[in-house]
Amino acid sequence: MERLLVKENPLLLPLNKEKTVYDGFITVQERDFRVRILLPPDHQIKLAKLHCCWQLKQLLRGYGHILKQRLHHSADLVGFVLEMKTVLEVALKSKPEYRSIPPPKYYSQLITEMEHLGWDKLVFIDTEFRTLSLKAEDSTGRQHVVTVKLKPKHPTEAPECSADLPVPMAITWTSKSTLNHIHTQFLLLLESLADFWKVLDEIDEKTWVLEPEKPSRADTMRRIAIGNNVSIKVEVDSRHPKMLPECCLLGADHVVTPLRNKLNANMHLWNPDCSVLQNLRDVLEIEFPSPATHEKSSFSTECGICYSYRLNSDIPDQVCNDSRCGQPFHQACLYEWLRGLPSTRQSFNIVFGECPYCSKPITVKMSTKP
Ligand SMILES: [Zn+2]
Ligand SMILES: [Zn+2]
Repeated sequence: MERLLVKENPLLLPLNKEKTVYDGFITVQERDFRVRILLPPDHQIKLAKLHCCWQLKQLLRGYGHILKQRLHHSADLVGFVLEMKTVLEVALKSKPEYRSIPPPKYYSQLITEMEHLGWDKLVFIDTEFRTLSLKAEDSTGRQHVVTVKLKPKHPTEAPECSADLPVPMAITWTSKSTLNHIHTQFLLLLESLADFWKVLDEIDEKTWVLEPEKPSRADTMRRIAIGNNVSIKVEVDSRHPKMLPECCLLGADHVVTPLRNKLNANMHLWNPDCSVLQNLRDVLEIEFPSPATHEKSSFSTECGICYSYRLNSDIPDQVCNDSRCGQPFHQACLYEWLRGLPSTRQSFNIVFGECPYCSKPITVKMSTKP
C-alpha cells in the first residue's frame, strides 16, 4: 500500500517512523493542495483526521459531509486519498473560479516585481491581477503596450505575452525572470523594428493609404492610392524593411500595365539606403497623391452595384477595363450581378459578362467566399 500511495501521490510523504502523520500535497487537475493527514496508532482510517490548507477548505465548503462519508467507507489511506481526489475534482468543476487561484505568494511576488519595474509603466490590470498591460516608449518616442498574462505558478511558469507587433512576441524566460525582464526584452524588440515603422510611418503620412483603414503597428501591408481606381499594394518585410517589398498593382489594365512595365524595368534601381516610398516614386516614375495635394474621396470610389466602399472587409477591387469607364465593383457584387443575366457565360471559375455601366465585356472570378 505504501508504494502505491507514493506512486499516486509523490508529494505526500510520512513525517514519522510510525507513519501516522502524512504531510505534503495532493495534485488534482494540475493544482497542488497542501494536506496533512493524522492517523491513529492502529492506522484505522475511520479515525483519521484531515487538515487542509485555506484554499482547500474554501473549495471543500459544502462537501464536508461527503468527504466524511467517504472516509468511513475507505479501506485504507490509498483508498481515502483517491476518494478525496474524486471529491476535489467534482468541487473544482462546480467552482471554476477556484481552478486557477494563485497562492498568496503570487500576489506579493507581483507587487515586488511591479515596484522594481515602476508603477508608472502599468497601464492596465484586471481585477484578478492576472493580466496586466505595460507601456514602453521606443527611442523615437512611439508608444507601445505589451500585455502579460501571468500563470498561477508565476514565476515558475512562463507568462504569455502579446503586443501589437509584426513579429511573434518571443520572450526568454527562466524561473528567476520578472516583469522587468519582459519589459527589457520588449524594448529591444521595439528597437529592432524601428526601421520598419519608420518606412511605414512615412507612407502613412505622405500618401493616401486605402487599406488597412486604420493600420496597426502589426500591419505590414499598405494599399496606396496612385490615382482614380489605381493603387499599389505593398507588403513590407518587417525584418528587411528597406528591401524591395512584394508589390501588386491594382486597377484597370490600361493604367496598370504601363506601371507594371516600369516596375519590372526599373527594379534594379531599388536603393536599400532610401525609404520604400522614395524608391517606389523612383521606380514607378510617379508622384503619389498625398493628403497635402488631394482629398481622400477622389480614391475611395464606391462599388457601382451596392454603392458602398466596404462590403464585409472587401473593397471594390474589380475594375472595368474600358478606359472611359473604369468603374470599380466588389467581386461578390459583380459575380452576383452577372450570374443573374441571361447573356452571361461561365467557363470553369471565370464568369464573362457585360459591365453594368458601359456594357463592355467584363470578367470576374467566381466568388469563393460563402
Ligand atoms: Zn458592392
Ligand atoms: Zn464599364
